[in-house]
Amino acid sequence: MYLSTRGRTPRIEASKAIHRGLAADGGLFVPEKLPSFPAALWEKLPSMSYCQLAKQILGLYLDDYSEAEIAKAVDAAYGGGHFDTEAVAPLVNLGEGRHVLELWHGPTAAFKDMALQILPYLLTTAIAKSGSDKEVVILVATSGDTGKAALAGFADVPGTRIIVFYPKDGVSAVQKQQMVTTTGTNTAVVAVDGNFDDCQRGVKTIFGDRDFGKVLDEKGFVFSSANSINWGRLLPQIVYYFWSYGQLLVTGSIQKGENIDIVVPTGNFGNILAAYYAKEMGLPVAKLVCASNKNKVLTDVLRSGVYDRKRDFYRTSSPSMDILVSSNFERFLFALSGGDGELVAKALGQLDTEGSYRIPAAVFQKMREIMAGYACDEADTAATIRGCYEKEHYLLDTHTAVAVKALADYRRDSGSKNRAVIASTANPYKFNAAVYTALLGAEKARGLDEFQLSEALAAYTGVPIHRGLEGLREKKVLHTKSVAKEDMAAAVGAILGV
Ligand SMILES: *Cc1c(COP(=O)(O)O)cnc(C)c1O
Repeated sequence: MYLSTRGRTPRIEASKAIHRGLAADGGLFVPEKLPSFPAALWEKLPSMSYCQLAKQILGLYLDDYSEAEIAKAVDAAYGGGHFDTEAVAPLVNLGEGRHVLELWHGPTAAFKDMALQILPYLLTTAIAKSGSDKEVVILVATSGDTGKAALAGFADVPGTRIIVFYPKDGVSAVQKQQMVTTTGTNTAVVAVDGNFDDCQRGVKTIFGDRDFGKVLDEKGFVFSSANSINWGRLLPQIVYYFWSYGQLLVTGSIQKGENIDIVVPTGNFGNILAAYYAKEMGLPVAKLVCASNKNKVLTDVLRSGVYDRKRDFYRTSSPSMDILVSSNFERFLFALSGGDGELVAKALGQLDTEGSYRIPAAVFQKMREIMAGYACDEADTAATIRGCYEKEHYLLDTHTAVAVKALADYRRDSGSKNRAVIASTANPYKFNAAVYTALLGAEKARGLDEFQLSEALAAYTGVPIHRGLEGLREKKVLHTKSVAKEDMAAAVGAILGV
């Protein structure tokens, strides 16, 4: 059963938690109790396929889904050729006891695919269980990566429609082209004359509009959300941490039971939280290293015990981590406070009204034992990309580079000799301009558009362009709708024909 982190709503089944997304008291759904990774599975772990492992782990959490329902979802998401390798998430040895877990082999070249490829199946199953026969309309406001990953996941999934709003001038050329060339009979992509905040506000307004909701209900539609606070997006991410441990065993890099460190480039705190849940389930993890860019709210809270969002916001070369309020940190606070909903509600209330809160000393103490925070500035990000390419001939994206630097700093400070798994969240071609500039300098990049940069990067490194980004320029543009920010609801109505 699932509880709200603010402790003011009744327990509900997994399918309802996934269906609702957010709890009615404003909190996030968390499992009442974390299951242990079954002893019998440790023996089998090295020989299990990604799909086999995913079925086992999802089964531990989704009590009201049948084995067949889980199997169908897992096979469709990870077994159907949507990922460009059977391993789904290959583990690459970088030397010096460092292993890169490549989470970007899905259709859109970023790690969001790991969850958004399976979420549509978990969600449509949940809705069917609720007895509803309505068509689900997923509304997404995106600043880039989430929109395309959600489109790729929901395209042509029966019983669903997906509508993505993006800021007209707020996404990169590659990100825009990825979205507007999306196929699928149930997809719609709309440019908004405004910024990301306008898009997000517009979507929230549509969600909250009861009259509009009623009209849609009568026409057979119901809204849902695919953003990262949904439990259905977090759960699939636990799988690949166990998977990486299995791969380390297969290659003889570790002995059974040996502790590892895990480093995660962090934004909304979802990915690293999944690693924490894996550790609580019994994965032998010595330390979780939380890596941030110049927006280092998380580094600071892990050092001072004060979460303080009152600070300047920076646009960096790792934009998916440019975030000051990490929603999923609330789940971590709930877990480490022993499930104290009152404490969480009070802290998050303070964050809202005063812009900061202090974590109680006993909770903070536990937090520091589990997690260390490190930040990496723009110059070090670029230097890490260059150094890693020159030394290991391995091409890092900007987000993964932040993590590689954080690990080096953590090892220097702690003396840890553990094997480390580094979560790699994007393919380097997704952030080609910054990667190219890091390798060859800004002068060489001048005058090249994003598509030419990809080709130049491929020519220089010999690393093939990710198949999800290949031939992007030639793809047919299928979505040209553009609206004023006041007209987003009208656009939804027009798309759905209501
Ligand atoms: C979303 C994203 C992140 C941040 O992940 P969180 O789960 O929000 O911490 C990091 N890197 C890339 C490339 C992303 O798309």
